[in-house]
Amino acid sequence: MIDRLRELEAVARRLEPGAEERGGVRDEVVAYSEAFLERLPEGKMFHPELPERWTLLDSPFQDDPTPIDDLLKGLAVEVDTPGINPASAGHIGYIPGGGLYYSSLGDYLAAVTNRYAGVFFGSPGAVRMENALIAWMADLVGYPATAGGNHASGGSIANLTAVIAAREAHGIRARDVERAVVYLSAHTHHCLDKAFRIAGLQDCVVRRVPLDERYRMVPAEIARMIEADRRAGLRPWMLIGSAGTTDVGAVDPLHDLAHIAATEQLWFHIDAAYGGFFILTEHGKRLFKGIERSDSLVLDPHKGLFLPYGLGTVLVRDGGKLLSAFTHEAHYMQDTRIAIEDISPADVSPELSKHFRGMRLWLPLKLHGLAPFRAALEEKLLLARYFHGKVKELGFEVGPEPDLTVVTFRYVPEVQDADELNKRLLAFLHKDGRVYISSTVIDGRFTLRAAILSFRTHRETVDVLLEMLRNGLEAML
Ligand SMILES: *Cc1c(COP(=O)(O)O)cnc(C)c1O
Repeated sequence: MIDRLRELEAVARRLEPGAEERGGVRDEVVAYSEAFLERLPEGKMFHPELPERWTLLDSPFQDDPTPIDDLLKGLAVEVDTPGINPASAGHIGYIPGGGLYYSSLGDYLAAVTNRYAGVFFGSPGAVRMENALIAWMADLVGYPATAGGNHASGGSIANLTAVIAAREAHGIRARDVERAVVYLSAHTHHCLDKAFRIAGLQDCVVRRVPLDERYRMVPAEIARMIEADRRAGLRPWMLIGSAGTTDVGAVDPLHDLAHIAATEQLWFHIDAAYGGFFILTEHGKRLFKGIERSDSLVLDPHKGLFLPYGLGTVLVRDGGKLLSAFTHEAHYMQDTRIAIEDISPADVSPELSKHFRGMRLWLPLKLHGLAPFRAALEEKLLLARYFHGKVKELGFEVGPEPDLTVVTFRYVPEVQDADELNKRLLAFLHKDGRVYISSTVIDGRFTLRAAILSFRTHRETVDVLLEMLRNGLEAML
């Protein structure tokens, strides 16, 4: 047995490379990342072509190691080229993510130290850091000190967490589901429909509240629907507003919605995954009045704080409600109950072991300070207005002056079919590939949309997009 242990140990120890070997691999990885960042400004944003062969990705996993330079060469071709490049300034489609460099270093530190951020007992400091970020965000939106929250992997899971907290707080059991009514809009993000299904609430009655000419929910219509539903013996229980819809960036009249929810005793949830951090600007503060009266709220640091993908935060005004929805006991966890100075993430989310996500946000916030975040967000608001004006000058039919940073537009030609022309125009832009925008359907019409949110997008890139649109129109008309 001792011989076998010695043999096994010799091979197993390869998992712990020495300082020199670590340094060698790290230098190559860093050099690769630096080259990636250097190339970003010139590189194309969109590569629809697939590699001729997936040589690296289809290669077998085998007993023998592969050298790092072979792996990086393959990654460059097969992973970091095809498709969309979300790190690029030219990402103006969907809702752009970011990729702050210091956040990647935060991830690096979190992974090397592998602090266990699930329970306070395990890593009091890691949990305190995550909770400090929750408290900061709660304070930003005007929630009281008793608010709670959790850092999830993204907005979808954060919204799901809020839906479950709402379900539990209102005691919606299986037998109640078919009578329970939820009010949202046609522009509510589809992750909420998904969340209802996952939470066993797909048989709820869902009311899509009509929108005004700026795609915001009409409060009077909600009040009317609730009254009709009560008369029909149904049980209105949840109202969902958006602080920045994905389609057009519209912000619902949060103050009015809060008033209805309070009067009717509904759980008021706000999906601010896209728009929430605009509250760091004066414009956002004004626009989001009433946000502090919601019961729960979702903000995506991997959108509005420019982090790499992997962080969406849910806040619940009464933190106790989040706790009671997710706290469970188990014998094998008994030791962890001894020191409870802070709330443990495991008690307010479906997760137990989890990535120490706080570090990827805390490090850039501390290293940069808040000023550049605020400036970048205000810059995006102005860029969206700038683009809205310029694209109109080019002869496009434009959507409403943007509440936030999404601009919708389409070209309406005299003779050709408008949907067809805009589809061809989008294909033209994608072929160019310097800037990427996406499309949607609004009021049944194929519509182009520009969403400006990457911290790397400045006026220069918006001007490139305008030039591409000008070229596109010339080629089409
Ligand atoms: C992006 C987005 C979501 C989903 O968030 P993920 O982080 O992509 O899971 C939800 N709601 C809105 C309004 C969004 O923009």
